[in-house]
Amino acid sequence: MTCAVISDIHSNLEALEAVLAAIDGFTVDAVYCLGDIVGYGPNPNECTKAVLERCTAAVRGNHDKAVVGLLSLEWFNPVAADGALWNRKNASEETLARIRALPQGPLDVGDGILLSHGTPMDEDRYLIDLPAIQESFAMLDDTFPHVRFCFNGHSHYPIIIRRRAKKARPEVVKGGERLRLEPGATYLINPGSVGQPRDGNPHASFGILDTSRLVYRNIRVVYRIQETQRKIIDAGLPKELAWRLGDGR
Ligand code: ZN
Repeated sequence: MTCAVISDIHSNLEALEAVLAAIDGFTVDAVYCLGDIVGYGPNPNECTKAVLERCTAAVRGNHDKAVVGLLSLEWFNPVAADGALWNRKNASEETLARIRALPQGPLDVGDGILLSHGTPMDEDRYLIDLPAIQESFAMLDDTFPHVRFCFNGHSHYPIIIRRRAKKARPEVVKGGERLRLEPGATYLINPGSVGQPRDGNPHASFGILDTSRLVYRNIRVVYRIQETQRKIIDAGLPKELAWRLGDGR
């Protein structure tokens, strides 16, 4: 089976539309979303509608929770909190209800695929340091032993971590755009962020996994960043949110 995986859209409609158009260029059996549909950006309603209409399954992210009041804004820096409050104020009742109804990860969607926003243990935790990586693999061994591909978002940083066998040391794989996957290995994969990439590359990021051919692709898509930046400024959202899109930070 082939699936597309998107994450961290953050109310960026131009990036989302560009990514969904790119996904149209593939034959996929499913589209999965790892959360943070809203927060930061200027189009919460349009993005929620487009993601939930297109995605086969989605889990919630910390910004989704914050926007609907399920997570205190005290955990957010002032710019993120401003963005969350603006999204809450400008989201329709229908959008808020749909975001509130998103399930908490991890979500087992079959085919050896698990969806989580942060780590599989904690949706709010970044999967970026070695303890988090080791605990994630341990949790897969204990609770989801059939999972081969654990997708996670949250850091907005595309990365692939491979563990060749149960006792083996996890390693970061530099796959470039197209990576051949190993049959016996287990992977933690972050497809990067659609709406606010932070790896220095401003282009929208997503993943395509083919579990039959064992190929994973991280794809970057050019979108109309200046249009999104203009909307952010016009909406009265913090200007930093516009600038960072241009830098991919
Ligand atoms: Zn996010």
